[in-house]
Amino acid sequence: MSDLMREIDRHVIGEIWTSDVAYQSLKHLCDDVGHRFGGSDSEHKGADYLVNKMREYGLQNVHLEEFPMYSWERGECFLAMTEPVERSFTAISMPYTGTENIEGDLIDVGEGEAPDFERLGDAIRGKIVLTDAETNRPGQTKSHRTDKYRRAVEYGATAAIFINQNPGLLHITGALYARNPGGDTVEDHTAAIPGIGVNYESGMSIRRLAERGSPKMRLRVRNSTYKSKSNNVVGDIPGGEKPEEIILFGGHYDGHDIAPGATDDTAGTLTGLEAGRALAPFAGKLKRTVRIVCFACEEIGLLGSWNHCDQYGKPDSNESLTFMVNLDGAGRGKGGMEQLIVTGDDDELVNYFENLGDDLTYDFPVTSGLSAHSDHFPYFLAGYPSATLRSQDATAGMIGRGYGHTEADTVDKVTIRGLQMSAVLVARLAARLANDDGFPAKPRTQDEVKSMLESKKMDHFLEHHWGRANRVV
Ligand SMILES: [Zn+2]
Repeated sequence: MSDLMREIDRHVIGEIWTSDVAYQSLKHLCDDVGHRFGGSDSEHKGADYLVNKMREYGLQNVHLEEFPMYSWERGECFLAMTEPVERSFTAISMPYTGTENIEGDLIDVGEGEAPDFERLGDAIRGKIVLTDAETNRPGQTKSHRTDKYRRAVEYGATAAIFINQNPGLLHITGALYARNPGGDTVEDHTAAIPGIGVNYESGMSIRRLAERGSPKMRLRVRNSTYKSKSNNVVGDIPGGEKPEEIILFGGHYDGHDIAPGATDDTAGTLTGLEAGRALAPFAGKLKRTVRIVCFACEEIGLLGSWNHCDQYGKPDSNESLTFMVNLDGAGRGKGGMEQLIVTGDDDELVNYFENLGDDLTYDFPVTSGLSAHSDHFPYFLAGYPSATLRSQDATAGMIGRGYGHTEADTVDKVTIRGLQMSAVLVARLAARLANDDGFPAKPRTQDEVKSMLESKKMDHFLEHHWGRANRVV
């Protein structure tokens, strides 16, 4: 280990381990600023807080990176069964659901995987679909909410009701996508059919009652989609030798409007900010630039990361993005459960990070995988190499997102130690990646991106990604 790395390690570990500022920021953002739903006043206040913290901590080139988008505000949501029994249920609209009154037959598609829809086929047309929300257990990959929603739209359903898979009277939310991608009206940016989230107990109740035969439901939703703006928050620890080469670490600071998003992903975004604070005194001493980004609007379509990704490779920019690390899911839980997932199949990079773990004398598992549903994905599509650093949280064993996207994603799910251990790892990794001339991360050509998507049966994301549908460009 070089003297500089030893000096950095001692500084960042000491600084982070003896401070609770990240936890104080978590409490402020969640308890005072609130949900930070993309494009809302609360999100704008969150951005102001984070940009001020970056300045206070001595990061450089600190700025807000503004982009246009469509936000959404929830209103009334009434859901009732009218036959075979009359009963109402608490329910919530999912973001970008419009204003509609719908009454019709209910059809249960079970888990809502592709074969479930195929089996029912034309019987779905004109009906209200009832489906499980995400059903993956830890380590499993299954359909994303937006995959099920897309199927419901394609099979001609009039609405889709999603059942949270974890008991506890928690409603599930998650953004839908614009009915007319690329359109420039509020109507274009409203979802094609309503998406409704219900808690597990209501969902099971609807299912039991529906089994009595010929179920009908009534649905009344009133929501508004509106034109707004949002901001990524960006700050640097400039490199001394190759400042134009960027090593990017970023989590998203927006949440869903029903919860403050403490674990998804306030903790992750603050892990990056805290690493930036600890590394700020080393400006000019590392070779490459370490860039910390607090991404906006991840929850409603990765909008902040699409926009930030576009900043690289512009004709008037001499910067090049060497590597991107997504911090969605970092900093959760009790600490010591961090794991790194290299985006796509790349044995050389997996080996590199495993060896780095030995060098740091800090054990963290390294795997590879490809998901289309967080902030690394726009970078993957653009050919930039990336990874995701996340922590296994206290809710391991829960289905799907656990407490994420429910009312229960609150500060009490995060610990000071969890934030500290993730931030230390981010800072130490950032220093190595910024300084290693032999860092083997390589960009992918568009053909390589395409064939990797094909090999994973994910090539439909080239044509249609729900998040890209929600962009304003
Ligand atoms: Zn997230």
